[in-house]
Parts: sequence; structure tokens; C-alpha cells
Amino acid sequence: MGTPPSANVHWMVRLNYRNRSLSFMLMLSVLCLHLLDHQPGLLIWALLGLQFLVYPHVLYRLVARRKAMLRAEIRCMLLDAVLLGCWTAVLGFPLWISFALLISVHVNLTVFRGMRGLLQCACASLCGIAFGLWGVGMQLSPETNLQATVACILALSLYLLAVSNSAYLRSRSLRRTREQLRQSGRQLQQKLTEIHDLQIQLRELAHRDPLTGLYNRRHLDSELARILGEEPLAPALSLLLIDIDHFKRINDQFGHQAGDQVLARLAGVLTSHCRKDDVICRYGGEEFVIIMPEVAPALAQQRAERIREAFAGMEVRLLQRRLKVTLSIGLAGYPGHALTAEGLFRCADQALYQAKAAGRNRTIIWQAEPLTEADTSLGTPRTT
Ligand code: GH3
Ligand code: MG
Ligand code: MG
Repeated sequence: MGTPPSANVHWMVRLNYRNRSLSFMLMLSVLCLHLLDHQPGLLIWALLGLQFLVYPHVLYRLVARRKAMLRAEIRCMLLDAVLLGCWTAVLGFPLWISFALLISVHVNLTVFRGMRGLLQCACASLCGIAFGLWGVGMQLSPETNLQATVACILALSLYLLAVSNSAYLRSRSLRRTREQLRQSGRQLQQKLTEIHDLQIQLRELAHRDPLTGLYNRRHLDSELARILGEEPLAPALSLLLIDIDHFKRINDQFGHQAGDQVLARLAGVLTSHCRKDDVICRYGGEEFVIIMPEVAPALAQQRAERIREAFAGMEVRLLQRRLKVTLSIGLAGYPGHALTAEGLFRCADQALYQAKAAGRNRTIIWQAEPLTEADTSLGTPRTT
């Protein structure tokens, strides 16, 4: 199994890999300068090569394949501390080199894990030193030659500068990411507002009749239920059921489109004669309903008459002809005539039926008793 593409490897593992390879190579050159004076055996050279040249790359490949990459990387950093501690003991604690090896590994763990990392690293280094002492015994040669000392100072400085630069690059990329997040948040908020507005528009459309732009039956039902459901007692209201007289004839003579034109004209008349609180709906076909909240039937009748007269007095131009169209209106009031929406509709429908039966073009208020002929005469509807 190969190493996964570096883009899939956690940034911390990649960063450590770069820093570890660089610092180990620098330290190997320092050690070479130091050990030239000491003539160590072949085994030591081989082990140094493995530790400082091969080990960082093997470690990276192993960690990059792990699922829990971060945990594995922290363990590797602790392993660094153990091995470098071991090397300081094996080399006889050369002062500058030991300092450089141990401080670099301590800086590394402190950067990623704070004081906890520092303590863990100190323990791991001590274990490594103990292991080294156990292997080669106690030997002390703290001096390093001038070249090794200078190289050590340079290597340590380079390493610390590389770590600082990595920290700077990291914080810059974090700042950018935060800014992008903020921007995405703003865009998301904007989209949410747009969706909210669209939902309001859709809800509005679902409650509107496309031909006249008036509210539809669904809206009327919910609005009436809301008003009548008010606690403790709903305010009085009047309900007008409006039906165009002989509308079928208009359709038959002038066509369906002309009929639609009449419906739209009526919608205009209703809108211009109603208050803000009135609910005007196209109930279906050529029937319209107006709810007049807080209006008693007597007053509602006066307003209904004004609507009826305005519409009757209007001329509709259809196929080069001027046409007069009339309305019949049935009226019922809450709570005088009925206490429920169904009851109100039943009463208004009966009143409308009476208006049609009495010759159309009139407003009639629902009455419990049958109306006499005098009650239903044109334009002089009976009041309650
Ligand atoms: P009445 O005076 O008794 O009310 O007679 P009417 O001819 O108006 O009778 P009715 O109310 O039964 O007729 C309703 C007609 O309305 C029947 C139907 O063709 C027509 N209609 C229903 N919806 C529409 C519509 O959206 N556009 C048009 N143009 N006509 C419609
Ligand atoms: Mg009808
Ligand atoms: Mg009709």
C-alpha cells in the first residue's frame, strides 16, 4: 500500500514531516563534524544514517496511512524525544548538541500540545537518556569542536526559524479560512432571507386567485376560522355572498374570455369599495365573498348596496358592445344570524337565493321567516 496523496494527509503531519526531515538532516551534519574527532565505529555511523536520514521518511509513510493520524503523529513526536534522548547519552552528552537535540523536540511538542506536551516530552527524553545510559553506560564528553559548535548554533537557529515561519503561515491560513467562513456565513444568511421571502410570496400566491388577484377560498376559510376563533368572543362581522346575474349568458354570447374580463372588473369594484380590514375573496366561478369584520348587517347592507349600484352603473365593453351587468348579494351576520362559518354561509346562501328568486340585482339580509314580496322589491331590500 503506497502513501496517500499529501492533500489527504493532515496538515500537522505534513508540517512535522518537513520540519523533522530538515532538522534531522541539519543535526546529522553537525554530528558528522563532531564525530570526525571521535572516530566512532561503523555501527554508530549506520545507526546515525538510519536515525537522521531514513527514520523521518519511514515515520511519515507509517503515520500517513493511519486513520487516527494526529494521535499517531503525537506518538511519533514522543518517539523522537526518546530516541534523541538516547542519542545524547550514547554520544556522552556533548553540551551544544544535546541542547540542540532536546530543545528542538521539546519546542515541537510544546507548539502542538502546550505544557502537557512539554511535560510528556521531558519524560520521554528522560526515558531515552536512561535507555542510552543502560546501553553504553555513563560517559561524559561535553565539549564539541568549534566547527560543530557553530554548525550546531546555525542548525538550531534555522530550525527555530523554520518552526516560527510554519506557525506564521498556519495562522495566516487560519485567518483566511476564518474570513472565508464569515463570508460564507453572510452569503448563507442572504440565501436564507431570500428563501424566507420566497416562502412568503409562495404562501401569498397559494392564497390568491390568479385571475382576479383576490384571496381564494382557502384563505377565506382560514381567515374566517381565525376571526371566529378569537377568545373570549369574536367581534361581530358581516358576510356578503355575491353572485353575478345571468353570467352564463355573457359567456355564451361573448365567450369565456369576455366573461373573465367581467370577473376582473368586478374584482376592481370590490377592491375599491372595501376597507383595509375587509377580506375579499373569489369564492369560486362568478361568486365572491366579502367578510366585513366589526360591521353589523345593517351597515354592511348599505355598503353592499353601494357595491351593487357601482357595478350595475358600470358599462363593460365586450366585442364593440357596451354591456351592463348586475349582481345579487346575500348577507348574513355573526353572531345575530349564525355562530359558525358553515351557518353564516348557509344563511348568506339562502339570502342570495331569495335575491335571485326575487328578480336579481338586489341585496338581501338573511331572515328566519320567509320574505314577503314587498321585502324583495328591486333595490329596496329589507333590513333586520
Ligand atoms: P344566475 O343569475 O342565476 O346566477 O345565473 P348564472 O348564469 O350566473 O348562473 P350560474 O351562477 O350557475 O353560472 C355560473 C357560470 O359561471 C357557469 C360557468 O360557465 C361560469 N364560470 C365559472 N367560472 C368561470 C370563469 O372562471 N370564467 C368564466 N368566464 N366563466 C366562469
Ligand atoms: Mg353562480
Ligand atoms: Mg350567477
